[in-house]
Amino acid sequence: MNEYAVRVAAQLRQRYAHEPEYLQSVQTWLEMIDPALDDPRYEKLDLLTRMVEPDRMFMFLVPWVDDKGVAHTNHGYRVQFNSAIGPYKGGLRFHPGVTPSVVKFLGFEQTYKNALTGLPIGGAAGGADFDPRGKSNREIMRFCQSFMNALYRYIGSDTDVPAGDIGVGAREIGFLYGQYKRLMSKAESSALTGKGLTYGGSKIRQEAAGFGTVYFLARMLEHQKDPIEGKTIAVSGFGNMTWGVCRKATELGAKVVTLSGPDGYIYDPSGVSTQEKFDFLLEMRAKGQDRVSLYADRFGVPFFPGKKPWEVAVDVVIPCATQNELDVEDAVHILANDVRYYVEGSNMPATTEALKLLRLSPKILTAGAKASGSGGVAVSALEMAQNSIRYNWTPAEVDQKLRDIMSSIYDASAAAAEEYGLGYDLIAGNDIAAFKKISEAMIAQGL
Ligand code: GLU
Repeated sequence: MNEYAVRVAAQLRQRYAHEPEYLQSVQTWLEMIDPALDDPRYEKLDLLTRMVEPDRMFMFLVPWVDDKGVAHTNHGYRVQFNSAIGPYKGGLRFHPGVTPSVVKFLGFEQTYKNALTGLPIGGAAGGADFDPRGKSNREIMRFCQSFMNALYRYIGSDTDVPAGDIGVGAREIGFLYGQYKRLMSKAESSALTGKGLTYGGSKIRQEAAGFGTVYFLARMLEHQKDPIEGKTIAVSGFGNMTWGVCRKATELGAKVVTLSGPDGYIYDPSGVSTQEKFDFLLEMRAKGQDRVSLYADRFGVPFFPGKKPWEVAVDVVIPCATQNELDVEDAVHILANDVRYYVEGSNMPATTEALKLLRLSPKILTAGAKASGSGGVAVSALEMAQNSIRYNWTPAEVDQKLRDIMSSIYDASAAAAEEYGLGYDLIAGNDIAAFKKISEAMIAQGL
């Protein structure tokens, strides 16, 4: 590895020894962009340090009262990572596992994910260690309002534009936006994205994360001259991204045969491929129990408690749940089952060792979340554009733009991989193309 990169990595390990997810995402990225580091300007300007550390990070307490009158105090975060290309932009995650390390890894990945959308957005992330499970609607509203009471001073349509992530969907964005509007006394719609369709949201935003991932997969299949029709897909999770993947895969003639939750996974050999099943995913989420076994009860398919879906023999694997959900044992299963495509939906779904196994195996083609998972944020940027021109595109128009954006991300990744002699390594190709774009923007804007 490049000497300067080795020093930057060592410094980071020393300074943030207690932040494993953040170190993991930076370390992997440094390895991926290594072939492109042969430029003396980078060290001269200490560019890598400025790229792997966030510009700033806010931490705040989020006090709220539950329905029984009991007080709770959660920890809220917003990390503004990089604004070389545009205003800070990224999701908010409400999950008990949210820590400064998780928020920083998400913000880091978001910066490089956003860069290749071709739209003017920088990178950010945020959230809170709040567990939405089993909370009433009123509790969620009060929590969101308290969260915004702290966050509002740091965000804005030209500053930092939050959106959803795990635990933050259209309902939460509605409560957050309502409070922002009250505090600011103005309807600044593009200060948040993922809004409802009645107050400035974009068509296809909910679908975008999953649709984008399948569009990316479709380009990989096209490259292999391998038809998408009839392909079986294993996915994890049953949230927003999974829902979109099931729908678009069905439309293109493929079928998703697994779903998972913290309780285990289900196997549906006929596919999660009817309107009734798509709607049931939304129902399961609205119930707020976080259990996928409900699907097995409803449709009479097998449920495997405590297991992960990666043991099922399929053509394509798309992790859609959360970071490090796929370990070495899972990667070994995937390779033993002769799975041919590994396409990341969720951010950093594989552990370092698992990713290495998959990437280096000639048996399987791999795509990283910073490319294949960028559909959601791409439509977020389209939502900002629509808000500023006070206009709404039709679903077909947004879908076509999303498709074009995913295609250009694919093209840029494949081209960079080829340019640096990396063959068809779409993960490294994407990281290199995004790195080049952001570094040029940073250099142009001075220290
Ligand atoms: N968390 C989402 C993502 O991964 C949303 C980001 C956004 O729309 O700003 O891209």
